[in-house]
Amino acid sequence: MTQSAGLLDSRVAVVTGSARGIGAAVAVAFASHGARLCLVDRAPDDSLARVASQCEGYGVEVLTVRADVSVEGDVTAMIAQAVERFARIDILVNNAGILTNRRVADMPAELFDETIAVNLRSVFLGCRAVLPTMTAARYGRIINVASQLALKGGPRLAHYSAAKAGIIGFSKSLAREVAEDGITVNCIAPGPVDTPLAGDLPPDQVEATRLSLPLHRIGIPDEVAPTAVLLASEPGGNLYTGQTLGPNSGDVMP
Ligand code: NAD
Repeated sequence: MTQSAGLLDSRVAVVTGSARGIGAAVAVAFASHGARLCLVDRAPDDSLARVASQCEGYGVEVLTVRADVSVEGDVTAMIAQAVERFARIDILVNNAGILTNRRVADMPAELFDETIAVNLRSVFLGCRAVLPTMTAARYGRIINVASQLALKGGPRLAHYSAAKAGIIGFSKSLAREVAEDGITVNCIAPGPVDTPLAGDLPPDQVEATRLSLPLHRIGIPDEVAPTAVLLASEPGGNLYTGQTLGPNSGDVMP
């Protein structure tokens, strides 16, 4: 068993979309800092169980829940299961997301709606479901995963960019609503990160973004996870709420 660094000791975290990619890296990082976990994904295979056993290697308790975060009943149930198991939720990471490429001119309304439902409506549903527990405890850390595309947009990604921009506006507003309850709400807005989802980004777009980044390289999930640990930690709440952390700001992107 690896020894915990303890920054999240005794905390309980729900992480959506944690069967792979950024969500899996966040889950493992949280476990390495001592958090007990509720891992959520709709993946039909055993990938969520594999991430769970990696987390359990740090000696923390892990609950896995299969849920579709765009479905209201699933989100209510996932939060209820976490509360039933752990009697508290300190941290919620709304990370699950999907990305497709389509020009607006060719976009079926159903694809637009699905993108908003999975990427943005899910954030609303997750936050609303967890607020009673966090408000009662007068403590909470909510982290919503947006994207640099929210700030700069991208061709064939209007639906995705709109959802991600919505997450930032939603989070800034919610941060103001719940500050007096001891709850912080922040966004992480990664640039391109090497995951299966990024494989669906237009290659020309990835290359243009890569060149615009300060380090001129694509990130990896383990480079996003430490920011999530910071925002999830108790000391992180002193400086951060209503903020969006990412590798760059919109006005210096091409
Ligand atoms: P990924 O595709 O590797 O992983 C996403 C996970 O979310 C998968 O396990 C998938 O099964 C799950 N998921 C998708 N829809 C779901 C739903 N409706 N209900 C439950 N689970 C669902 O993607 P990733 O790159 O790790 O992305 C994670 C988050 O980071 C997403 O919100 C994405 O938009 C965002 N993001 C990614 C990048 C990037 O370049 N990879 C950049 C910026 C932001």
